[in-house]
Amino acid sequence: MSDSLKMSGEGQEDVTKVNEGETNERPKHFIEQIIDEDLASGKHKTIATRFPPEPNGYLHIGHAKAICLNFGLSIEYSGTCNLRMDDTNPEKEEQEYVHAIKEDVAWLGYSWNKEVRHASNYFQQLYDFAIQLIKSGKAYVCELNADQTRAYRGTLTEPGKDSPYRERTLEENLALFEKMRAGEVKEGQMALRAKIDMSSGNMNMRDPVLYRVKYADHPITGDQWCIYPTYDYAHCVSDAIEGITHSLCTLEFEDHRPLYDWILEQLNFDPRPRQIEFSRLNLNYTLTSKRKLKKLVDEGYVDGWDDPRMPTISGLRRRGYTPGALRKFCEMVGITKSDGVVDVGMLEFAIRDDLDHSAPRALCVLRPLKVTITNYGDQVEQLEGQRHPKMPELGHRVLPFSKEIWIDRDDFMEDPPKKYFRLAPGKEVRLRHAYVIKCEEVVRDETGAVIELKCTYDANTLGKKPEGRKVKGVIHWVSASDALPVEVRQYDRLFDQPNPESEGDEAGDFTQNLNKHSLTIFQEALAEPSLANAKADDRFQFEREGYYCLDVPRLKNNVQVTVEGSGAQKSKLVFNQIVSLKDSWQK
Ligand code: ATP
Ligand code: MG
Repeated sequence: MSDSLKMSGEGQEDVTKVNEGETNERPKHFIEQIIDEDLASGKHKTIATRFPPEPNGYLHIGHAKAICLNFGLSIEYSGTCNLRMDDTNPEKEEQEYVHAIKEDVAWLGYSWNKEVRHASNYFQQLYDFAIQLIKSGKAYVCELNADQTRAYRGTLTEPGKDSPYRERTLEENLALFEKMRAGEVKEGQMALRAKIDMSSGNMNMRDPVLYRVKYADHPITGDQWCIYPTYDYAHCVSDAIEGITHSLCTLEFEDHRPLYDWILEQLNFDPRPRQIEFSRLNLNYTLTSKRKLKKLVDEGYVDGWDDPRMPTISGLRRRGYTPGALRKFCEMVGITKSDGVVDVGMLEFAIRDDLDHSAPRALCVLRPLKVTITNYGDQVEQLEGQRHPKMPELGHRVLPFSKEIWIDRDDFMEDPPKKYFRLAPGKEVRLRHAYVIKCEEVVRDETGAVIELKCTYDANTLGKKPEGRKVKGVIHWVSASDALPVEVRQYDRLFDQPNPESEGDEAGDFTQNLNKHSLTIFQEALAEPSLANAKADDRFQFEREGYYCLDVPRLKNNVQVTVEGSGAQKSKLVFNQIVSLKDSWQK
């Protein structure tokens, strides 16, 4: 069974492992420089990083950048990287997402340190630390409602005001916090807040909320808790509990760093993890937000989280991307502190480059037009074609050839312009791995549409140049005697605007920027017979068309599709286009 089909679960034995040399051939980025200094100064002996997704959706290409960074560093420095579900928000999180996250990280080629962690594993410790904060006068129970809290908070230009509950006694705070925990307080009625500085220039330091009351069952802790820690409180403490040395996150958390440090300082953690921010990955023509991608799934704009047009890791996997190409792409994007937008063409380049070197060639006719070779007998000849022009070790496959063949409708023109080297009345063309044919007659139906070409072949052109003339064009074909009917799905970008979120009449409604031509299905496509044996992880270059793989949809609730045996016994095989041969968007 192939790696993309196998349920990885905790086990990572079957994935392509990342080798240590993979990340070493470029100048070190600023985070590596910080780590080098920390190791040289003896601040740390080894490093520990973590990847902390919130399980409220499937991971996308932006997360791949964070995964490659965190896991990549742990490999480079022989440290460790934890996988931690940031599951502090009980309402939006689902086990389906937890499962998908593990599968995606493993598929990318990474192994996490020991078991998967959950921030919810630390609920008791987080609670105990909160008591410690209250006891040291650093946290208090506040009874302002949401509107009042907002009003007291001030603005970017005006300082906030102290809450009237800020000066409660320790005993009062402990008793009220216990009431919150015991389920004696309504949602929104009380919150535990850090006591920092209501006039701070940094809004995050204006007595941020640490705990709120929420009567919601948690996927792991069930109804054990009715108070839940906020991200800012849970994240830094979880990092510290796990002994993380470098806590890497995206730039929007820069303003949260003083709070991160403040909390850990009050709790006397030593040594303390250091938060370092890097710029997030933004791609043009692409959404990188789980919330927005969820909208596409929930409202049926796409066929699930793993729709091959989705920028999710599972979508890219089903589309046929390789883990190596995604890692290569993340490496090409690099790690910096400056926000920018990466051209999605770079992602396409990464997979194209990978496949050009490895994908066996195959012939597949997407828009079949019948060709009868009038001077060819009734025999079927078994021709051969190299699987890869530069990899003789991949060997040959058999290409049956007979009197009736199919070519692509787009490879014939009745009235061609100059320099058209494909088939036209009275013109010759070479059939890939076969003979030179000449178009003698065009057959039409009653509406005048071309339905067949009658051609002759030159028997003396197999593996040889024709004598006394030049034939420039080469086209692909399949023999009608053995053609394998397949369905081919051709994809284009999901959005036709470079910035799907800000273009159009109603900026922000990205659904109006969906590309109406993002999916074309060729139901009548015909492939060479060897493709009947295609397996789930095979990738092919359909000559003159692009790169393709077998479509393997992933069923929900952990049920995997298993493809066994030869494709010929099954219903029609479906191939996904991974990427075209050339970048058709470039001007
Ligand atoms: P989303 O908005 O898609 O939900 P998020 O940042 O809220 O993204 P998390 O699950 O919290 O999603 O992210 C886990 C980790 O992945 C975080 O450390 C986050 O910084 C990182 N991450 C998320 N999106 C990107 C991105 N586009 N580029 C780089 N890193 C990202
Ligand atoms: Mg988040």
